[in-house]
Amino acid sequence: MVSDSKNSIDQSKNLPEERELKGIPASAGIAICSQRVTVIKKLRETKNRPVSPDRLPSEIERFNESQRKSLDEIALTLESEHDKTIKQIMETYSMILNDPTLQEEIVKRIYSTFSAVQAVEDEFDARCALFAHAKDITLRERAAELDHVRHRLLVHLGKRKPLQRIPTGAVIVSHSITPTDLLELYKIGISGIITEIGGIASHVSILARSLRIPAIIGIANATKKIPEDCILICDGYSGMVIINPTPNTLLDYEQERVKEQKKQKALGQIIELPSETVDKIQIRLSANIETLEEVDAAIMSGAQGIGLVRTEYLVKNNGTFPTELEQHHWYKEIAQRIFPHPVTIRVFDVGGDKKGGIRKEENPALGYRGIRFLLGNKKVFRTQIKAILLASEHKNIKIMLPMISNVKEIKRAKKIIDQVKHQLREEGAMFDNHIPVGIMIETPAACCIAHELGKYADFFSIGTNDLAQYTLGADRNNGFVAEMFNELHPSVLRLMNMAVEGAKANGIPVSICGEIAAWNNITELLIGMGITELSVASPSLLTIKQKIRKTHFTNAKNIIEKIIRSGKIPKEYRQTTKKKKRRVS
Ligand code: PEP
Ligand code: MG
Repeated sequence: MVSDSKNSIDQSKNLPEERELKGIPASAGIAICSQRVTVIKKLRETKNRPVSPDRLPSEIERFNESQRKSLDEIALTLESEHDKTIKQIMETYSMILNDPTLQEEIVKRIYSTFSAVQAVEDEFDARCALFAHAKDITLRERAAELDHVRHRLLVHLGKRKPLQRIPTGAVIVSHSITPTDLLELYKIGISGIITEIGGIASHVSILARSLRIPAIIGIANATKKIPEDCILICDGYSGMVIINPTPNTLLDYEQERVKEQKKQKALGQIIELPSETVDKIQIRLSANIETLEEVDAAIMSGAQGIGLVRTEYLVKNNGTFPTELEQHHWYKEIAQRIFPHPVTIRVFDVGGDKKGGIRKEENPALGYRGIRFLLGNKKVFRTQIKAILLASEHKNIKIMLPMISNVKEIKRAKKIIDQVKHQLREEGAMFDNHIPVGIMIETPAACCIAHELGKYADFFSIGTNDLAQYTLGADRNNGFVAEMFNELHPSVLRLMNMAVEGAKANGIPVSICGEIAAWNNITELLIGMGITELSVASPSLLTIKQKIRKTHFTNAKNIIEKIIRSGKIPKEYRQTTKKKKRRVS
């Protein structure tokens, strides 16, 4: 329930009135921000700053200077560097910078009354756009090279990214935020985010939960309604934003925060205890990760492995893929840190709402994403498989294929994996020859043919975020259909059950890595269904372990069987943690 602001307002006539806005809670936690709210209409917006004609020569000189400095830097690296690959890269940068047409075009743009910074941004945008969506990977890599050169020039032009000016502890209010921006903001140490659009199962919401950043989405016109100079509370439990809270409300929230910290501390006591039900059924508790830093958080919370690595986060903003070497280091590092526990690396699930898809599509979620993209871009797929295999020496890596909807896709993917293995054997490389290859179950089609798919997969992992989206025809990112996006809809539960049956028939394990694995009010339903592994964001690991340890498998089995038969879900399971309300002050 929401506090009645009018009751507590008369404490001081000078205080601005407390106001409340209601959004959708996307990541639990409370952020209290005094005088540091950062309202940004669009995070990556750069303004066209016209300059007066008399400043044009100095803007051109500024550009020339930045070009000279960039070339000097490159020359220095070329002199001191012995690595052949780095030398080649530097030579490419130097070639781009020395291109006379680049100089010409930028000067032309400056003459159209734009500043040097703006001219560089625009010219590189135009050049990158030519390559960023090219089908050929070498051409797309060209876009990355251009981006590096742009960055060098902008550094010398003294342009700083807007994100770098955001103070630590700020709550960000923006129309929307991309996962990449959120990662950068996390490094700055922001304390909360509020956006005008977004969905609870969108990647930025998932990431906010992983990083423990309180987040509220779907507040229309939040960037207009929230002033910069206010004290603000962002309640990621209830979705309430309180602007200029009264001292009473502030105290109430401070107490709430202390309570939460105590709860977390108490949970710390079960880290060493086994993740098993009262009747001793073992449930593996793993973590979903997007960044390397999250591996340590997972270990500290007692994770028994990494159940999902979303490798799409390695794809650069302009759509270029990381090199084999970059990937290899990353996978090896994760595998080493989590050893002896296993790590499931999901191959690039690009396209859809994620980065790296190669085409502009009418319906990206129904388009060329996940395994469909990889089978059409074999070079990307082979490079990733090679990087994974080369990191698999200690036999704790599994490969997972996303967006599977038919048997042919698994067969084709496995054929490519076998070819890469063959090549590595010829080269005498060390790798896990029996590396398990499993699949994501996230389309209704996959659930319906799970018995068949299970013959070719070593494990299943149910992606309930996409499964709900495709079953219910409701976009996981669209706040307007948030009510329709119900992962506990009987149709979704029945499809999940079909997947579990398919796995059992083939004697393979089945896990859940979708967001509902972290809903502690339905843990027993998932266990009762026969799920043997739950993979959740690290902040939820201990709460889920606590629920597992209180579950009786046999009871749980009876409850879920009844729900699946009747299609009726008792009330206690319907209220998810994301709907939790804050108490009245
Ligand atoms: C899912 O779809 O449930 C899932 C885990 O994958 P992602 O959220 O990355 O699409
Ligand atoms: Mg998915």
